[in-house]
Amino acid sequence: MMRYIFTFVLITIINFSFAQQQTPLETSGYKQLTTYAQLIDYIKKFPSDKIRWEVEYFARSVKGKDLPVIKFSKGEFGKDDGKLKVLLFAQQHGNEASGKEGALMLLGRIASGELNYLFEKIDLALIPQMNPDGSDANTRRNGNNADLNRDHLILMQPENIGLHTFFNKYKFDVSMDVHEYSPYSQSWFKYGYRKNSDVTLGTLTNCNISPEMRAFSNSEYVPFIKKYITDAGYSFAEYTPGGPPEIEYIRHSTYDINDGRQGFGSLATLSFIQEGINGRDSIHMIERRSKSQMAGMQGYLEFVYKNAVKIKEMVRAEREKIVNGYPAKIAVQMIHVKDGRKLEMPLFSLSTNSDTVVTVVDYRPVVKAVTEVEKPAGYLIPEENKELLAWIKKHNMIYENYTPEKNDAAEQYQIIKIDSTDFEGDIIIDPALERRKLKAPEIRGNFILLPTNQLYGNIIVQALEPKSHIGLATYKPFESLVTAGTAYPVLRLIR
Ligand SMILES: [Zn+2]
Repeated sequence: MMRYIFTFVLITIINFSFAQQQTPLETSGYKQLTTYAQLIDYIKKFPSDKIRWEVEYFARSVKGKDLPVIKFSKGEFGKDDGKLKVLLFAQQHGNEASGKEGALMLLGRIASGELNYLFEKIDLALIPQMNPDGSDANTRRNGNNADLNRDHLILMQPENIGLHTFFNKYKFDVSMDVHEYSPYSQSWFKYGYRKNSDVTLGTLTNCNISPEMRAFSNSEYVPFIKKYITDAGYSFAEYTPGGPPEIEYIRHSTYDINDGRQGFGSLATLSFIQEGINGRDSIHMIERRSKSQMAGMQGYLEFVYKNAVKIKEMVRAEREKIVNGYPAKIAVQMIHVKDGRKLEMPLFSLSTNSDTVVTVVDYRPVVKAVTEVEKPAGYLIPEENKELLAWIKKHNMIYENYTPEKNDAAEQYQIIKIDSTDFEGDIIIDPALERRKLKAPEIRGNFILLPTNQLYGNIIVQALEPKSHIGLATYKPFESLVTAGTAYPVLRLIR
């Protein structure tokens, strides 16, 4: 009898120590998604005997949930300039659970100590869940019914304001945003095929982002992660929205800077988006979905670890260029164009119930500038425009009160009329403008000067030019900036 009790106690102890590293999803036998409360509980019980970590709460959701980031470093997080600073965040969209579940599995693996070698070269900040309100309600949007992944430019949502404040504290060199894509739409069903890859990966596309950085992502990271994910037993494809083929063109996502990838990418951060396949419902195939996402995230850490020195130097050089006002011209209208290649797209045939490959002819992988503007020395923001001032502060941009200098000149836009144009299938404003020069004495009023020779330089131009397809005026809170028959209130400073 004694022996029986002893064995029972021993098994309980073993199970307990093992259970600490199992995620709530794993513990449920893949039958229950991890709730916000369970996630917090899991993090609080995270063991610290094999790895140094600390948790920071960087934002509070609309419905009052504190958002944790787990920071891993061999020393003091973010303090060693020789280390590559790596950000990984998941589940901006609440109904895309596998990013969060995969991130929690990755935490379990880190806790085991088997990935400790990574922290010789990198400091890692891992955010398993950006949108707990949407997650618990199984909705895409947050508690304000806003799409967090369209909010990175205007920064209206508390979850994103917190994320960007956290980003600015450490100026991460690398970031990845983890999502899911849904392959089950009506248009694809009618087409007879659907996407079926476990994991897809998207790189930076906006043509104002350094060509070197974009080329490095496409020629180095994409083949690496393809092999890594395939070796782990999962299928991989490049992230290619649009379609179905030859009905709508296939592109490499948007060039907009309002998402979690290009928002940080425009600050010369080496940024990626990873999208796993969604289920027919939230729990469908969740074990495979989560494990394949975790494989992608682990591959990402492996890649940045192996290339830490090279990436660190590339990011430093690119940021230095932006701070020095480079490039001199910024594209504010762009289009997706072909480059002669055809895409061999892995798809699932609904008629034969098997994986196949479809050759896509209308494939537009390249983003090309259509309208460019010269970068001014800065923009003059009327002091009374509180919305713009709040926007500048939320991004932690550098600004000062404008003091006129003798040789200053400015350029002012007059908005003649407002036409509309197509932007990736959406109809947006396309104002007809006239630009006139103001000499120093004609610059009247009190202004805030937002200089472009700062890390935000390229974002500032794309946000503030009234003709920009992706500018602030295309968003409801800022639409009054562009009103027909008026002068655009923000001036371009020439000095
Ligand atoms: Zn998403």
